[in-house]
Amino acid sequence: MPELENDVPEVARPIARRTNVCARVPGRNPDKPALILHGHLDVVPAVAEDWSVDPFAGEIRDGILWGRGAVDMKDMDAMILTAVADVLRAGEQPERDIIITFFADEENGGVEGSALVVKDRADWFRGATEAISEVGGYSIAVGDRRAYLLQVGEKALIWIKLIARGRAGHGSGLHPDNAVTALAEAVAALGRTQWPVRLTDTTAQLLAGLAEITGDDAGDPDALALRTGAASSFIRSTLRTTTNPTGLTAGYKHNVIPDRAEALIDVRVLPGTEEAALADIRRIVGPHVEIEVVHTDIGLEVPFSGDLVDAMVAQLDRHDPGVPVVPYLMGGGTDNKALAGLGISGYGFAPLRLPADLDFTGMFHGVDERVPVDALEFGRRVLADLIRTY
Ligand SMILES: [Zn+2]
Repeated sequence: MPELENDVPEVARPIARRTNVCARVPGRNPDKPALILHGHLDVVPAVAEDWSVDPFAGEIRDGILWGRGAVDMKDMDAMILTAVADVLRAGEQPERDIIITFFADEENGGVEGSALVVKDRADWFRGATEAISEVGGYSIAVGDRRAYLLQVGEKALIWIKLIARGRAGHGSGLHPDNAVTALAEAVAALGRTQWPVRLTDTTAQLLAGLAEITGDDAGDPDALALRTGAASSFIRSTLRTTTNPTGLTAGYKHNVIPDRAEALIDVRVLPGTEEAALADIRRIVGPHVEIEVVHTDIGLEVPFSGDLVDAMVAQLDRHDPGVPVVPYLMGGGTDNKALAGLGISGYGFAPLRLPADLDFTGMFHGVDERVPVDALEFGRRVLADLIRTY
């Protein structure tokens, strides 16, 4: 049986309980660039009282695996491990070198995970040009049909803080220069902004694909996206900028007007529109509210074409014949952003054939996160055949 290149995987553990791990499986064809299969090992917390099951027990009920991480993203981690094991145990080898990497800390922005590994252990990824990971490759319902979403891009992230300043004073006074009032107006204006639809190559192809599947007119992007049912709010957010207020801070006593009020806004924009979006935001909040950029991360968009895309689409078609595959751009971010710093093109391809009535996109960080076991078996087979042939 072919072995891992090293007897033991390599480990980078910058701090306790933040372990990154990597192993390389040699391929048959050393002339081909290596392919990275990666996942993150951490999950977000879960409040047990809110769940129907113990969120950390990994319970299987009626063919469905329940638990925190079932969707984000122990599912893909398990599919990667079992797919590679299936190939090796059959005495076969992948077509090209496979670099299996599990990152820590993704839910914390990858600080002790992908960002650190890309900086300190770039050698783990030598010879790799492409990567596959989470949040794509799963099926959704489009009208009464099924389709697969393949993720080829991620929106850029801009976390901003709005700061309004005013004059402090007694809560009983006549007080036009109130920082809380000024901030509230800016937050409401931004939170209620209806950002216009702005298509990229990916979302234009997505809408064309949905129009073909449904037979609907391609001219109304939101109406087309609504045909994807539970996935539609996820998809509609990728057609435009979003500016969601997520935090408010002001005041310390009921009868004291504070001289300062702050709000946190989670801004997600299409790749390449960062500056234009910030200019729009400045105009919307007005000249008297300051904007502080707290944190940014890049957007990504790779073409929905090429040999790897063809191979992923072909494997889905082999295992679920005749079901269309459409590209999409994700509103959130993954460790693919860090790998992009090494010139590696990342895709979201964690293949799952899902029942039409499962609100899969609602499961990410949600309560009662769960995935059908037969969907995991499907993904295991698709990934194994992908690495055998690509
Ligand atoms: Zn994730």
